[in-house]
Amino acid sequence: MIITRGLIKKYGRVMALQGLDLEVPEGSVYGFIGQNGAGKTTTLRILAGLLIPEEGRAEVAGRDVLRDPRGIREVVGYMPDFFGVYDDLRVGEYLLFYAAAYGIRGEVARKLRDDLLELVELGHKRDAFVDTLSRGMQQRLCLARSLIHDPQVLLLDEPASGLDPLARVEMREILRELCRMGKTIIISSHILSELADLCTHVGMIREGRLLRQGPLSDMLAGDRVRKFILRCNGPVEAAVAIIEGWPGAGILSKAVNQVEFRLSGDPGDIAALLREIVGSEAQVVHFAQTEQSLEDTFIQLAREVNGA
Ligand code: ATP
Repeated sequence: MIITRGLIKKYGRVMALQGLDLEVPEGSVYGFIGQNGAGKTTTLRILAGLLIPEEGRAEVAGRDVLRDPRGIREVVGYMPDFFGVYDDLRVGEYLLFYAAAYGIRGEVARKLRDDLLELVELGHKRDAFVDTLSRGMQQRLCLARSLIHDPQVLLLDEPASGLDPLARVEMREILRELCRMGKTIIISSHILSELADLCTHVGMIREGRLLRQGPLSDMLAGDRVRKFILRCNGPVEAAVAIIEGWPGAGILSKAVNQVEFRLSGDPGDIAALLREIVGSEAQVVHFAQTEQSLEDTFIQLAREVNGA
């Protein structure tokens, strides 16, 4: 549904994208993950037809972003990370204004306005001035705006940023509903836990390059590296020293009585390490494998890239 090949984008001397290849399957919710400045907004703006790359190509729903910008606008709904809302418009008028921009008017536009306000749970705010809405409500209104022409593809740049926990949950529910409606959705975020229970696919980007992409289940499979927690009755130093010297192991975090570490190896290797620790001065009271999170995968991949 969305494909990019070798995208390069420079801002002066800053290389924002350095040959980006993305593949977003139809109907997927694709979590686009990366730290600040990784190139997420730049990518989404290119896919929305708002920015032209120096090199490479991109296709959305069979339309070429460079050759067919009009076609792109028909199939793409874009929600930017920073958006303006016109102060002197009411919520309902705001949506009618954007509907008119797509040539939708009259009764059809009014019906669409009401349906979209219902979808984003803002029906009760139809006659309120846009600038009186809370941040969460403005985000939802902006999402409704991006849906006005019923696009097949949604590009959402940090849709939950600046929202309180309850507003985040509400936003997630709306995104689930959009997913059920069959939209293909890219959501950019650097809050990885937020994406884990929403996305079907994940792409990790760093310094304008893709680190890895694929189905979420593959990312979390944890077969590349496992994460463990070990707790002691007393200091963990003896255990830490063994882990640090163990091939394929690495400390993730350390407290007085507890250490978290990663280990790549087979079950026999894990048992051998545990045997060694139990045989040391460390008084082990708890040892368990913990869930591999998206964050772990991202950190691990970033380390591999750095050669750590
Ligand atoms: P964030 O999570 O902070 O929004 P991002 O992943 O969306 O970051 P981009 O906004 O795409 O990253 O920026 C990628 C790189 O390009 C960064 O180094 C940024 O400083 C640079 N950049 C982005 N826009 C411009 C611009 N208009 N002029 C110069 N440099 C820019």
